[in-house]
Amino acid sequence: MQIRDDGQIYLEGVSVEELASTYGTPLYVYEENRIRENYRRALSAFRKYYPDTRFFYAIKANNNLAVANILRQEGAGIDAASVNEILLAKELGLGGEDVMFSGNFLSDDDIRQGLESGVIFNLDDPVLLPRVLKYGTPELLSFRVNPGYGQCDIGAFVCNAGPEAKFGVHPDQVLGAYKAAKEAGVKRFGAHMMPGSSIRDPEYFGYVTGLIMDLIGKTSRELGIDFEFIDLGGGLGIPYKHENHVLDIDAAAAKMAGVFKQKIAEYGLKPPRLMMEPARYFVGDAGYIIGRVHTVKNSYKRIIGTDIGMNVLARPALYGAYHHIYVNRREAEERMPLNLCGQLCENTDLWVKDRPLPKGTTEGDLVVVENAGAYGFGMSYQYNGRLKPAEALVNGSKHYLVRRAETYQDLVALVNVPEYLKK
Ligand SMILES: *Cc1c(COP(=O)(O)O)cnc(C)c1O
Repeated sequence: MQIRDDGQIYLEGVSVEELASTYGTPLYVYEENRIRENYRRALSAFRKYYPDTRFFYAIKANNNLAVANILRQEGAGIDAASVNEILLAKELGLGGEDVMFSGNFLSDDDIRQGLESGVIFNLDDPVLLPRVLKYGTPELLSFRVNPGYGQCDIGAFVCNAGPEAKFGVHPDQVLGAYKAAKEAGVKRFGAHMMPGSSIRDPEYFGYVTGLIMDLIGKTSRELGIDFEFIDLGGGLGIPYKHENHVLDIDAAAAKMAGVFKQKIAEYGLKPPRLMMEPARYFVGDAGYIIGRVHTVKNSYKRIIGTDIGMNVLARPALYGAYHHIYVNRREAEERMPLNLCGQLCENTDLWVKDRPLPKGTTEGDLVVVENAGAYGFGMSYQYNGRLKPAEALVNGSKHYLVRRAETYQDLVALVNVPEYLKK
């Protein structure tokens, strides 16, 4: 993103005015080159310390196939949270060991389809193993380990590991899980964890790596099995607030790879591939939402009414997430505390309170919401009969529509009214 001298906001080489007039608002926009830079920065940091590193992109963060294809071109595999995400990966031409299925609380149908798809199965608990074996024995199997500790800078509410989380194999059950898999005839093994999200402290990455490596080291020794890969999860953070520092990716990679190598030596492991499956770090800061101010109201407070409600961006209402906001052509103006909302009949939709925004912000202005590339569009919904927005991709001075906005027809397309109710 760039603010030019005349105050116009540009995403790569395209003004938000041009994007808004071409595609309408609200509009999600992704900067292709930023995604590529993010990926390359992270991969080169990790490969510097551990050459056998591979990234899988957790596609749930942004499953637009144009975005996912950018990461595929960069060399990423896919981490799928559901069977449909395995199918999305297939749409990218990825399958087999380029895809990891990290589903959670799976149904028998999920298990059967996951197994038939031939991707890497990453089981959330040993209780699932007998149900997998009903349909066949995977050659390669991974367990999602709960290392007993998790962290998240959005709050404990979003924490993915530790005693309060619903994810992963209890640390005391890890050995038993692999023992059962070995006895069932599984020949190849991997391990996985996903203990945190949006972390910007490099120390954390070294700490959690130590936790899983101790569990896997002991398991490997005890059972005499090798691990082909150990997936250290996602969680590489981005600063949502401007006063927050960026993650020192080189330091995070150095800590993780350092502990990884140290534990390989300590337990005499055959060196596994180091895998990670970040998402936010690749796409989060490459995405923006362009919205328009439709109504400014002066009541108890001055409220700026835009077309970006919690139906378009759920994170602030869902877990108090912060997203920075710019006003096109007004960033140089004097500021005053303002409130900003969307158009829903629901007061949580007043998602910006008393924030210093340009004083002159008025009807017709364009607002730009930052860091919307991850967990943005994917969490949007149709409440109040509002339609899901379009998505566009910018690359230099070129722009492309990568998902059309919904229409009224999409709102009613899946509904069926029994004949007798029409009388
Ligand atoms: C969502 C998710 C990720 C990505 O997390 P980020 O914090 O966005 O990097 C990685 N792994 C799994 C299993 C996930 O569910």
